[in-house]
Formats: sequence, C-alpha cells, structure tokens
Amino acid sequence: MDGKKPGKNLSDIQEINRALVLKNLRNNPNCSRSQIARNTGLQQATITKIVNDFIDSGIVIETKLLKNERGRRSIGLALNAEHYMVIGVRLTRSHIYVGLYDIAGKEYNLIRESINISEGAEEAIKRMNRVIHYMLDTAGNEYILGIGVGLPGPFLKEEGIIAVMADFPGWEGYSIRLGLEEEFGKIIYTVHDAYANGLAEWWFGNKREESKILLSVSMEEGLGAGLINNGKIYYGTQGIAGEIGHISIDYQGLPCVCGNRGCLRNYCTKAAVVRQAMEGLEQHPESALNRLPDIRLESIVQAALEGDTFSADLIRQAGTFLGYGLINAIYAYNPDMIVLSREFAQAGDLYLNAVKEVLQARLLPIIYNELRIEFSKLTHDPVLMGAVALVTDFIFMNPSYIVKLGDGQKKKQASETTEKVSSIM
Ligand SMILES: [Zn+2]
Repeated sequence: MDGKKPGKNLSDIQEINRALVLKNLRNNPNCSRSQIARNTGLQQATITKIVNDFIDSGIVIETKLLKNERGRRSIGLALNAEHYMVIGVRLTRSHIYVGLYDIAGKEYNLIRESINISEGAEEAIKRMNRVIHYMLDTAGNEYILGIGVGLPGPFLKEEGIIAVMADFPGWEGYSIRLGLEEEFGKIIYTVHDAYANGLAEWWFGNKREESKILLSVSMEEGLGAGLINNGKIYYGTQGIAGEIGHISIDYQGLPCVCGNRGCLRNYCTKAAVVRQAMEGLEQHPESALNRLPDIRLESIVQAALEGDTFSADLIRQAGTFLGYGLINAIYAYNPDMIVLSREFAQAGDLYLNAVKEVLQARLLPIIYNELRIEFSKLTHDPVLMGAVALVTDFIFMNPSYIVKLGDGQKKKQASETTEKVSSIM
C-alpha cells in the first residue's frame, strides 16, 4: 500500500530496530536496557541510542531501580502511554462519537452528537470536525498522534484514501479520510466497524499473547466479523471478508437483501430474535412476553433468565443458529479464538452453551478442542477502540514519527523559553 521497494537502507533498518525496542517495552514493562538487548539481540550501544531518542520524545520513561539475578542494579524502562493521545471517531446511522484515548486504550473523554444522515455528509462532517477540534484543543494538538474512524458496513469500500458508504444517502463518493486529513493534517485511518471490533479485542482485550487468528463477531445492527491475523486485519480483495451475516445456513431459507437465501443474519441477530418472538407469541399465550408493552432483545433475555420457557427457547435457538454459521466461518478461517460481542452477553451460559453445543457436536474434535469461544470483556466501545488501535499500530511500526514529534516539541519549548527570556530582557 505504501509502495515501498523490498530493499532495506540504513534508515529502514533503524526503523525496524526502533519498532522492535518499542514492541519489547510494550510486552515487557519495567525491563532494563540490557534485558532488551538480550530479548532483541541488538547491541547495547544501539539500544542506548534508541532508548535515548524515545525518552527525549516522551514515549518512554525510566521507572524504578531493578536488581538482576547477579545482584547488579539497572534502571527499568516503560512505555509512557499517557504522553501521546489518539482520537477515536465512530459514525453510526444516528450518532457521531468522538473519544480521546491514550496509546494503551485508556479513555479520557467521550462526546456523543446526534446526527441525521439524510441531511447528507456536509452537516454531519461539520459537527464531527467541531468536536474533534475541541478534543485537540483540550489535549494539546501536538500530543495527538492521529485520528482513527470506525464506519458502518457492510459495503464500505476502502481503496487507499477513498471511503464510500453506499447506504448513506448523499454520502456517496465522500472521502471521510481525505476530508479529515485536509482539516487536521494528522494520520487518519478509516475502518469498517466490524474490523475495528476485532482489532480492539486483539489489542485491548489482552488477546495478543493468546490468539494468532482471532474472529470477533458483532451483532449490533447486522451481523459481521473481523478477522485478525497476528494483529493485522484481513480485508479480502474488496474489504468484505468477514461478512459472515451472509453465510447461508439454508439454501432454501429466508430470502436476504443480498440476493441469497438462508443468510445467517436473518436468523440470529437482535432484530431476527425480536421478529421470531413476535411471530411466536400467539402460539405461546403463557409467555411473559405477552404482558410486555414492547418486545426488545433485552426483555426477551430478562424473561428467559426469569424462567420464561418460550423466551429461553428463543435465546438458545439464536445461539444454535449462530453455531451453524460459525462452523462455516471456522472452516473458512480456522481461528483459534472467537469473541462474541456483548448483545447476548446478559443471557450468559444459556446462550453461550447453545453455541458451544452445536460446535462440539458438529466439528471434528481436533478442531473444537483447539478453539476458544467467549463474550467480549471490553468495557468501552470496541469500534472506537479498534479505530484507535489502527493509529497506535501505525505508530508502533513507524516509531520515527514519534521521535520527530518529540523533536518538534523540544524546538517549540526551546523557542518559548527564548521568547520568555527575551521578553524578560
Ligand atoms: Zn445475505
């Protein structure tokens, strides 16, 4: 994508070594210079130079005195995650969310603005930019590394700098990335919300050590998945890899907007379960759902947990249907971990066991036994966090960006000091 040639020059090697040291510090907080040398195989002098640059830029700090096994003392080093911030943006059909995060994913501020997508791109973008400017002013523009933006699917097409959203009237052809680059002059990443979910799980759900191929399934509006291969999003040719909502579980099943029949999204999303509840009410006059003014997924889950048999059957059935779809996804992608978004998390084991039972019954034991499946444990909006993770990932791969930022800050501080001195004189 960046058009780089395969040859490596000295500056490229310096960048690779810097990235290696930074990654080492991320994975081993409070380690010493000599420990990094041992872990990376780099010479001590190289480590010293790299660490000094990082300390100057503010991204690394010296921590406490460490004692090694031979009793010798050395100084610990750690990432200074709060020094630089990333802005996360999420666009949905009803709202814009703008959050401020440090590079460890800690949330410092979150603003939500209502939008009306039928007003077109211009009005919504104007509002979004206003909130981002506010965040930049609050955090200090020079400490913001970049802006990551999560956008709704399913057919977000991303080709370099272009992001097109076909189902937003008046937004066709509008490049959010270009618009933001022009307005803010920062690193801008745009990402499909289902992919952002997966990336957030891998980076901030502590899956880095546990999972090589992670499939995160989100069921908020439609049904989508993000496939993360060793920390990188797998996009496919057009950026529709992971659209598991359109995996068919019945070739003669319900017709879908995509033209296929029996698509998974018509059987086990929030909307599908609510529809099934409405359709079945008449046959289940005993169900507590008959006494509710309106039926939402939350109320079905609640009734199920309180012993309503019809509701419990619906929740289990949703888990079973998802299981049928996941089997196809598992054979296509062979993940070692599947993380489910939190829509059905309230139902706990009632739902999760239904999913697992199908997988256990229908997958080869050698596949099932190597697979973990669980609900997401992330507490903040994973789409925002995933968008932030894309920017953070860029920084970790290209640390010279941060070293240059640090140089800029030093120059600015020096010129401010000169100004102060000259104003005193
Ligand atoms: Zn479909």
